[in-house]
Amino acid sequence: GSAPLDAATRLDRSAALRRSSPADLEAKDVSAWFGAHQVLDRVSLRMQSGQITALIGPSGCGKSTFLRILNRMHELVPSAALAGEVLLDGEDIYEPQRKVIEARRSIGMVFQKPNPFPALSIRDNVTAGLKLTGTKASSAEKEALVEDCLTRAGLWREVQDRLDAPGGGLSGGQQQRLCIARSLAVRPRVLLMDEPCSALDPTSTRVIEETMRELAPEVTIVIVTHNMQQARRVSDECAFFLAAQGTPGAIVEHGDTESMFDSPQDQRTSDYVNGRF
Ligand code: ADP
Ligand code: MG
Repeated sequence: GSAPLDAATRLDRSAALRRSSPADLEAKDVSAWFGAHQVLDRVSLRMQSGQITALIGPSGCGKSTFLRILNRMHELVPSAALAGEVLLDGEDIYEPQRKVIEARRSIGMVFQKPNPFPALSIRDNVTAGLKLTGTKASSAEKEALVEDCLTRAGLWREVQDRLDAPGGGLSGGQQQRLCIARSLAVRPRVLLMDEPCSALDPTSTRVIEETMRELAPEVTIVIVTHNMQQARRVSDECAFFLAAQGTPGAIVEHGDTESMFDSPQDQRTSDYVNGRF
């Protein structure tokens, strides 16, 4: 067996395993522009604490832009402008005195294409965010955190014997779970996922969906997906975005996933979820 942990190490480990709680995220009258081109028009949506909200809709209707607004990445584009509010548990993440880094730490992001640091070890990929956010951790804390995050991302059993191997050597599905683990390491309260499975095979997709379902009670999840079966399988709530000919993107309908698929109120929702678009 392994040697008993000394008191300091136990304390370190329990500090590392402390988690944040999921938060409500609410967009109020969010409009967005790139230069003179308006891409979102007064989008309001409440994404409930601990739930999975799926954003669906055709390409170009502003789903990714909306997601990026939710963690202040929209402002990285020089021509981008924004109106409206984003409230994290009631607090506006855009209030002038709030730091951008705070929003990005509380609200993590996973992208379509898995983007681990390919040359960094699996272990260092998980802890990479600590440096960026200025979080100090002892080596015992880091070790516990790495195991915890990889476990929650559904990857621990596959990689526990090769934590020093480069992240770039993993399969696509494993790399995406590594990116989820990396996001979790800074204890986000919300996880935004922009088509996280569209570059993955069906088996990896299922594994990631299971991971999302397991994470959801403790992290609020917002996922953009073009896969209607996936929206149906994983989400609690669903919002249908549409940019009608020449108009900016807006939400046509929002509700619990079952109703959105089984008894949509708007003909356009019905057409979209039934693949008639
Ligand atoms: P979706 O994710 O629903 O496909 P996007 O949010 O990517 O939609 O895009 C919405 C609109 O904003 C599109 O017309 C797209 O061309 C435009 N757009 C997205 N990103 C930029 C950018 N960086 N600069 C200019 N226009 C952009
Ligand atoms: Mg997109």
